[in-house]
Amino acid sequence: MGVEVGALEKALSEVLAGRLRAVEEAEKRKRQLFEKCPELALLEAEIARAGLDAVRAVLSGEPEENMKAAGAKSLAAQNRRCDILEKLGYSPGVFLPVYACGLCQDTGFSGGKLCRCVKEKVKRDEFRELCLKAPLKESNFDRFSLEYYDGDARQTMQKVYGYCREYAARFGQETKNLLLTGRTGLGKTHLSLAIAAEVINKGYSVIYGSALDLLHKAEREHFGREQGTDVMASLCGADLLILDDLGAEYSSPFTVSAVYHIINTRLLQKKPMVISTNLIPAELERRYGERVVSRFISEYTPLSFAGTDVRQKKALENKLRIDGYAVAFSDGIKKFPQDHRNNCQMD
Ligand SMILES: [Zn+2]
Repeated sequence: MGVEVGALEKALSEVLAGRLRAVEEAEKRKRQLFEKCPELALLEAEIARAGLDAVRAVLSGEPEENMKAAGAKSLAAQNRRCDILEKLGYSPGVFLPVYACGLCQDTGFSGGKLCRCVKEKVKRDEFRELCLKAPLKESNFDRFSLEYYDGDARQTMQKVYGYCREYAARFGQETKNLLLTGRTGLGKTHLSLAIAAEVINKGYSVIYGSALDLLHKAEREHFGREQGTDVMASLCGADLLILDDLGAEYSSPFTVSAVYHIINTRLLQKKPMVISTNLIPAELERRYGERVVSRFISEYTPLSFAGTDVRQKKALENKLRIDGYAVAFSDGIKKFPQDHRNNCQMD
């Protein structure tokens, strides 16, 4: 799982902070119980003293009985503590910290390796960040409606939808690249986000962003105006990079060469990319040059989106719903109250 170093550090430090909190809470519980039942504090001191006696007996070669006596004292005190706790309604482990991860006890490492709780946390953080930036929950596969597409466009979009769903479901190391093309408002962003959500859920690292935003960040970093990040490394290293709306960014020699660099590096590393664009091939070639377009042709599966602007239809449908009119786009039937029929211009 390719992960940004910053994201990993953040997740690890949060896991460790959780460990500290767990220890502090256990201490707090202990203090409260000692106040409630002072005998528990005496027993705690007795257990500690017996432990020290046992250690001293071993280290200074005292007779074995001394060590056994210390052990018996400790055991008696522990049993008495268990009885008291039981009567008070607590388990014997009430003084112990409750860690979120039993595997690493919130240290972040288990068996000399990074614990899976840290990796899962990185995944959740990425998902949350993506949710903040994009309407991820609204843009899942189940909420993609073919009702907004008519006739041939619906057939095309049914195939596009099926392909994207399959793509996300089968995402793995051998996954191909996708080029989503078509005019604005046909659902490219919705299906890109649906792919992102599903691939993140499968445990892969995903970077999703508009070309405008991501390339601007990379440019700022390149010219030293963005500190503490490694945007290009993240764009090249994520398991999946989804670059939305390629061509909408401000074009500069930097962005043009950055697009080539990202596409080429990811191809060499066999890391897939999903690119969406409103530009036609001739426009792509004019903007990014022949070498980028030739990679699209040889290495990307093109998915051409069809239909008329879904966003406009949705907005209009919402407006009409608010106004109390029923409307159905699916078969071209528009149902309006008779007296309003002539006032509504649908297309
Ligand atoms: Zn763990």
